[in-house]
Amino acid sequence: MPRLTILITAGPTREPIDPVRYISNHSSGKMGYALASASQKMGHKVILISGPTSLPIPGGVKRIDVKTAREMHASTLRHFQSADVIIGVAAVADYRPVKIPAKKIKKTGHSITLKLIPNPDILADVGLRKKKNQILVGFAAETDSLFQNAKKKLRAKNCDWIVANRVGLKGVGFGSDQNRVTLLGKKGEFIRLKKMSKTKISQQILKIILKNK
Ligand code: C5P
Repeated sequence: MPRLTILITAGPTREPIDPVRYISNHSSGKMGYALASASQKMGHKVILISGPTSLPIPGGVKRIDVKTAREMHASTLRHFQSADVIIGVAAVADYRPVKIPAKKIKKTGHSITLKLIPNPDILADVGLRKKKNQILVGFAAETDSLFQNAKKKLRAKNCDWIVANRVGLKGVGFGSDQNRVTLLGKKGEFIRLKKMSKTKISQQILKIILKNK
């Protein structure tokens, strides 16, 4: 197999509320980092665009650190053209506070309202711009109607593959070292993988999506 360039987004994003607070989610970055590591070990060049995590940089991987969804969006659009494969694993915050005050919001004892506006959809924007020979892979974490939602995302974001996993199951997914996923392909492929470590899942995912490369 030729040496490919694989761009991976990973981890959560952080959306500041004021200088000391932010909105984020439970993503640990483990799945994205496992994919980065497995890609590197297969001999590929890896660009890992990562939100804040406590994970070390996988050996031989170029990591670009970002915090907000908008930073991740800008960095991904800057780098994806040189990539053969783009894998969006990051748990990108869908919304951000519309205004970030320069000073810490003071406690008043009254209720307050945070106005949120939508963040750009990184995967969808790459989907709009990608060339025919680029492989675009998204992840869909869902609590319900998993395959229905995953299929919708496959089409809406112009992906070649969606890796679907159910959230809320004990011992898999967010923060865990294990996962159970199903791959849905744009040609109707439906490949269910059994529960295994994120390292093994990464190897399987890469094997499947790079089959014709
Ligand atoms: O729509 P949803 O957030 O469930 O889609 C998940 C997929 O889309 C993941 O691959 C995630 O990395 C990507 N995504 C993105 N930018 C967003 C939201 C999601 O790239 N703003």
